[in-house]
Amino acid sequence: MSSGFTGGCLCGAVRYACESDPQVVAHCHCVDCRKSSGTGHCTHLVVPETAFRVTGEVRFYERQADSGNVVSRGFCPICGSAVYSTNAGMPGMAFPRASSLDDPEVAKPQFVVYASRAPSWDTVDPSLPAYPEMLEGGPQRALEEQG
Ligand SMILES: [Zn+2]
Ligand SMILES: [Zn+2]
Repeated sequence: MSSGFTGGCLCGAVRYACESDPQVVAHCHCVDCRKSSGTGHCTHLVVPETAFRVTGEVRFYERQADSGNVVSRGFCPICGSAVYSTNAGMPGMAFPRASSLDDPEVAKPQFVVYASRAPSWDTVDPSLPAYPEMLEGGPQRALEEQG
């Protein structure tokens, strides 16, 4: 089996290829994710930036997250699709959105953060560990705690 995955925006102007499999996959129900998602949460993959190659123009919207870190949400300036994010608190990592995957089955969610903010109609997956807020140390830490 080859590792890695591909994805891009709706119109195809932005494309990416990642040479490694996702290190972490998580649902995030924070307000910023909800507002930028089209539904109640975002599902993010976490990959090393060195393995993640993007072609096409990506525009970034920067905003300070509850953690205090600046999150830059990258989107296609033509079709508006969210493609991937970076987080100043986790340098060297890229966070492709599960919505941008060519094969959405690449994303195998492992846990849920900001579960306390999920709207009643966006059910928090009962089969996954769910943290009411972000853990100190971010997604990597959450995965370590899980063992
Ligand atoms: Zn596009
Ligand atoms: Zn979020």
